[in-house]
Amino acid sequence: MGGMSLSLNLSGLRREDGAEILERDIVIIGGGPAGLTAALYAARGQSNPLLLIGQSLGGQSATSSEMENYPGFPEGIAGMALAEQMARQATRFGAELAYEEVREVDLSVYPFSVRTYGAEYRAKALIIATGARARQLGVPGEKKFIGHGVSFCATCDGYFYKDKTVIVVGGGDSALDEGIYLTRFAKQVIIIHRRNELRAGAILQQRAFANPKIRFIWDTVVDEVLGDDSVTGVRVHNVQTGEESVVNADGVFVYIGFLPNSGLFRGQLETTEDGFIITDKRQRTSVPGVFAAGDVQDPNFRQTVIAAGAGAAAAIEAERFLAEKAYEDAEPVEQGEKQQA
Ligand code: NAP
Repeated sequence: MGGMSLSLNLSGLRREDGAEILERDIVIIGGGPAGLTAALYAARGQSNPLLLIGQSLGGQSATSSEMENYPGFPEGIAGMALAEQMARQATRFGAELAYEEVREVDLSVYPFSVRTYGAEYRAKALIIATGARARQLGVPGEKKFIGHGVSFCATCDGYFYKDKTVIVVGGGDSALDEGIYLTRFAKQVIIIHRRNELRAGAILQQRAFANPKIRFIWDTVVDEVLGDDSVTGVRVHNVQTGEESVVNADGVFVYIGFLPNSGLFRGQLETTEDGFIITDKRQRTSVPGVFAAGDVQDPNFRQTVIAAGAGAAAAIEAERFLAEKAYEDAEPVEQGEKQQA
């Protein structure tokens, strides 16, 4: 990066469109467990971090009604409650949290440019913790009925299906976890999976098979979401026999995996084919000074504890980067140059 050695203080300046330019040591994008933990570590490291949360705190983990595998909470904790605790802990040490959405990032300038609707931040180190979003089926009717029977969040929408029948699509941990959760409300949960073997872990499989409200339809894919004002069911076909049929239900919950929220950085950072940001073991991306943590760079685990750990590592590395850079910038200049100045 050519401009890397130049460290200007741009704070207080305004852009042509009037937006304020604010320089920060560490800017973190994303208010899920990775971003919140990065903010905590950076704040404790006296780096005065700014965390741009976006629209809502907690990211995907905030939609989890009960987290049983986050260490330290033997009775379990709701995802949102955990996020709020993390936010309180980060702010206690001086992290600044802002509900601002980032709309543009430029990593070719230094300090890196991060634009929200109201301001342009210039970050000496940047931590990307933008998470992931639900993968969609991409079949007719799916988009049309989002909010009218098609959902990607059982915790958010399960309540609306009291004594109703719902379909869950998928065979991984999420499908089973959320399917089991939905039995609190629904009278029946039908899990439609494209194979005859589940991807989900053993404990969730045992719980799902033991739940009298859950029924499985195997070797089956959804071709269309059906409905009038709201969902009435799905049209499916069996992948072994080719047989088509209609499964009636009042709601469809889609849990077929996740896609990284890395669009802001497209073409600026190295990613996998699926768009996951590539990092090394120290959370460093292909651009020095830019780090990534959590689901945006992790296609394998999707665990709150792992995202939090990666956020901590990213903050530690960001601080190392800043310290090394400050040292380089402060290197004594040649005698001749000093006299000229
Ligand atoms: P996942 O493990 O990738 O599973 C996605 C499921 O959707 C698979 O069963 C897959 O089928 C199916 N699928 C994918 N594309 C499909 C399509 N176009 N049409 C129909 N079905 C499709 O995703 P996940 O369940 O969200 O889990 C992601 C990660 O989070 C995993 O590492 C998981 O362990 C973790 N997680 C853990 C917990 C927990 O610990 N309680 C809870 C949630 C998630 P195939 O099996 O045939 O590929």
